[in-house]
Amino acid sequence: MMDPEKYASATVTSRRDPAPDLWIIRIRTEIELPYRPGQYVTIGLQSNGRVIERPYSICSSPLENEIELFIERVPEGELSDPLFALGVGGEVIVRRRTKGLFLRDAPLVEEPHLFVATVTGVAPFVSLLRTLAIRARSGEWTPVPVITIQGAARSAELGYADELVDLAQEFDWLTYVPTVSRPWEDPDWRGELGRVEDVVRKYADAAGMRPGYGGIFLCGHPGMISGARAIMRRAGFDNKAIREEQYWPD
Ligand SMILES: Cc1cc2nc3c(=O)[nH]c(=O)nc-3n(C[C@H](O)[C@H](O)[C@H](O)COP(=O)(O)OP(=O)(O)OC[C@H]3O[C@@H](n4cnc5c(N)ncnc54)[C@H](O)[C@@H]3O)c2cc1C
Repeated sequence: MMDPEKYASATVTSRRDPAPDLWIIRIRTEIELPYRPGQYVTIGLQSNGRVIERPYSICSSPLENEIELFIERVPEGELSDPLFALGVGGEVIVRRRTKGLFLRDAPLVEEPHLFVATVTGVAPFVSLLRTLAIRARSGEWTPVPVITIQGAARSAELGYADELVDLAQEFDWLTYVPTVSRPWEDPDWRGELGRVEDVVRKYADAAGMRPGYGGIFLCGHPGMISGARAIMRRAGFDNKAIREEQYWPD
């Protein structure tokens, strides 16, 4: 049974499916659910008298009135699979507290940021970029360079490419670099090729990042995180300069 002290309910208010097995939902919670960019919400479904729940990074800005999530369906995944069946009007349960320390230091003052994501790992960065865009428009934030690299097998899986391309056009402090690792399945693709690990060093160098100058934030696939961390460690960055949010165990 759902413990009302721990959980509240939420309704799916919109849904968009950028690619097979990848979808973006917005949910409206019956309670106030405060969060900072970079935090996650734990959502779940009840099944046979128990709650199945998993954490999901929040894509929306705290300045919005709904919570947006970008989710990948894992084959036979205990939660993501039944969650995928839920359309607009569907109900989920949410933990009453959001959590996470991933972007607690961001934005850094006077230092470039390198955001690196695989597919849904872009979620916390979307939340922060939406927030920074609003603050930059009203002159409340003094910009520093932000390079956001997102890798996917095919371009449709990038999910937020249109929004991030538009933001990068509006703001010269933002560079968005999508990269695709299966270009043979994506013949019209004209952007970077390969995994994020293949391009991460090039863009860090181009932004003038060097040990002691610049923060690196890695989110998503455990293999990408260990690969990108090793590359940036070899470039001289220490562990303190590298923050990580790993979505599942190695
Ligand atoms: C802090 C945090 C934030 C997260 N944010 C997101 C998010 O924004 N979007 C999102 O889709 N997921 C996110 N996840 C992963 C999510 O919590 C679940 O692990 C995922 O949805 C799978 O749950 P499941 O019950 O369907 O699969 P399970 O039945 O729990 O797991 C099945 C197996 O799949 C592996 N697995 C888990 N996720 C993936 C994946 N994406 N691709 C391949 N294998 C996987 C697991 O290691 C496990 O062995 C986040 C995880 C953490 C820890």
